[in-house]
Amino acid sequence: MKNKKFSYIDTLPAFKNEPLANFAKNKDEFQKFLSAIRSVRSQLGKKYPLYIDNEEVFTNTTFQSVNPNNPSEIIGNLTNVDLSNVSAAIAAAKNAFPAWRNTSAQERAHYLLEVAKVARSRIYELSAWQILEVGKQWDQAYADVCEAIDFLEYYARETLRLAEPRQLESIPGELNTYFYEPRGIAVVIAPWNFPLAISLGMVAAAIVTGNTVIYKPSELSPVVGFNLTQLFRPVGLPSGVFNYLTGDGPTIGGALVEHPDVSLIAFTGSKKTGLHICQKAATLYPNQPYVKRVICEMGGKNAIIVDETADIDEAIPSILHSAFAYQGQKCSACSRLIVLDAVYDQCVSRLVETAKTLTIGPSEDPSNFFGALIDKKAQEKVTSYIEIGKKEASLLYQSPTPEIPGFFVPLTIFNNALPSHRIAQEEVFGPLLVILRAKNFSHAIDLANSTEFALTGSVFSRTPSHLQKASQEFRVGNLYLNRGCTGAIVGRQPFGGFRMSGGGTKAGGPDYLLHFLDPRTVTENTLRRGFQGNSSFSFTTN
Ligand code: NAD
Repeated sequence: MKNKKFSYIDTLPAFKNEPLANFAKNKDEFQKFLSAIRSVRSQLGKKYPLYIDNEEVFTNTTFQSVNPNNPSEIIGNLTNVDLSNVSAAIAAAKNAFPAWRNTSAQERAHYLLEVAKVARSRIYELSAWQILEVGKQWDQAYADVCEAIDFLEYYARETLRLAEPRQLESIPGELNTYFYEPRGIAVVIAPWNFPLAISLGMVAAAIVTGNTVIYKPSELSPVVGFNLTQLFRPVGLPSGVFNYLTGDGPTIGGALVEHPDVSLIAFTGSKKTGLHICQKAATLYPNQPYVKRVICEMGGKNAIIVDETADIDEAIPSILHSAFAYQGQKCSACSRLIVLDAVYDQCVSRLVETAKTLTIGPSEDPSNFFGALIDKKAQEKVTSYIEIGKKEASLLYQSPTPEIPGFFVPLTIFNNALPSHRIAQEEVFGPLLVILRAKNFSHAIDLANSTEFALTGSVFSRTPSHLQKASQEFRVGNLYLNRGCTGAIVGRQPFGGFRMSGGGTKAGGPDYLLHFLDPRTVTENTLRRGFQGNSSFSFTTN
């Protein structure tokens, strides 16, 4: 039922992206950021609860989250769920679902817009937590919070669009109405690398479409996950609509995915975990009333092509930024550079010379371009791929690493690899770039398409026929022409891949919310002979 209190929502201004900050130019923004880091540092090491049915819950066991640039710095002590907490969260979400499903789209959108206001008022603090917990640089952290706000604003508007019932083809005496309803309990399983934006994007999409949510952040970014919980609390969401659980990924994630009452799993993470979840969700568990749906966004092995007509001055900084910003820990990061023979030597030598200027050290220091990886496991994985690369290809450049504690690895560039080599095929998720040589543009496209992934890609060229060919044949979810391959913006570049990169669901785009909904059709015989009583019938949804 529509409620007058929320009618302002019907005249919302059009969606606009949240503006980014420029710390290099704006002294005020610089100072605010410094004091936010100081303030966050004074809050480190606290104990954090679970959040179930609008109540904080503690258990007897905790785990720690640490600063990847200085692992002795404890960011927080997180509550480890036990399986009774999983059952309690499911029960809370299940109880809350019928009323939340029947809440108007206007009211649900209102909550998201209120959360966006809270996030905006805490934007520096939310960014500072990311710097300390996941080792983002200032600009990267701030951009993540802006993206999170964008998701809230964009999905609030999208849900209003989808809430309007549609009249379909009808013949005389028949009225056909098409509309959507939410599925039920949605489990959100998120990665650590865009710890607020990706989490909040999935959570907001599920909530605004009328599903109730159990959110499980990565065990590597649980304090940022708790911050997300704190954004919802001041807006007064009904009990049980949003719940937050922390602990070991496979244990809680597994229990949630397998629970018979869960109808939807929104997952973003690695191919290995994503495929495992798809397999588990396809199993029918006793008393399961739904065919579970998995929204699954996974990894990439993204390529940038540089042809013989490219503006190399424009290409080099974009390639380095795409490959190494946030230490290459983005699903969209460039990990393969494909250069045409005619410009290979010139492009590669300039790339290496520019790479030598990139400074490495703690992410918190804004003079560093490049910081530590997320954890020891990631450090060991990248180090092992560097060893594989040394056997498969030629080591072209390796940066020094700072001699301080922290999960640092060198920025590493290989050339002379074969397209079939492991370093040219497997997602490494770190600062490792492989350069491949192409005979001509068609060969470059073939190389670009030669992995199992299809997430992002980019082409630097001033030849229109090449750009045209790439648009059609470089088969990735997000292709960029004459710019880098990272930094998709909500509403402008709906993001997501296909093949082994995911389900092609495109977060931040016009189709995304549909994945959280079931469509229904109501057909009415209008050749009626009068209703009983005085009331009339006209079709409405929530
Ligand atoms: P991950 O697969 O290790 O973990 C992702 C989430 O799954 C975490 O919350 C984790 O706790 C949980 N999990 C782990 N095992 C589970 C299980 N058995 N059952 C249920 N849940 C389980 O990935 P990550 O290291 O957090 O993130 C990096 C990966 O995410 C990279 O592969 C990257 O390319 C990908 N990624 C993709 C996108 C995209 O939009 N396509 C965006 C960001 C990251």
